[in-house]
Amino acid sequence: MNIPKFKYHPDPIKTGSIVPSDEICICCGQKSGYLYFGPVYTEADIEEQICPNCISNGLAHSKYKAEFTDIAAVGDYGHWDDVSESIKEEISYRTPSFMGWQQERWWTHCNDAGIFLGRAGFEEIKEYGNQLIEELKNECDINDVDWEEYFKALSIDDSPTAYVFQCIHCKKLGGYSDSH
Ligand SMILES: [Zn+2]
Ligand SMILES: [Zn+2]
Repeated sequence: MNIPKFKYHPDPIKTGSIVPSDEICICCGQKSGYLYFGPVYTEADIEEQICPNCISNGLAHSKYKAEFTDIAAVGDYGHWDDVSESIKEEISYRTPSFMGWQQERWWTHCNDAGIFLGRAGFEEIKEYGNQLIEELKNECDINDVDWEEYFKALSIDDSPTAYVFQCIHCKKLGGYSDSH
């Protein structure tokens, strides 16, 4: 079974946002073999009951006014690169988000949304290399000594965690980290 292609979240199974499931999607009534496990902003009780197809084709948004990422958090409320309304809508309405400790933010660069690569801890970030380390450090706004301690504490599945994105255009890595 295949899942639809998401431009800004290329491997949602790997990131854990889409998981195999035998359950029926509450939105389309179909069994797609997968369900979305991530934040949903809507008044309807549809968490963990939406299939990837209904995210991709916009049905979950049109039926429940669901947002998967707060639309104003695309670009971090104006803190990162500005992107068009249509890109914000694609992220918020038609792209699986991810589980953060705090309100999820979607990194932007070169006036476009970045692609979400996944959560990362100390080991994973070292693999990505120095450019990402610099970026995450700048995003934290802490001194070098505190950073060393914080960096070592970063964990892929425990707090604090980093969220890694890549620019579609210049390939730069970026993102942010948070904790509970
Ligand atoms: Zn569905
Ligand atoms: Zn860029």
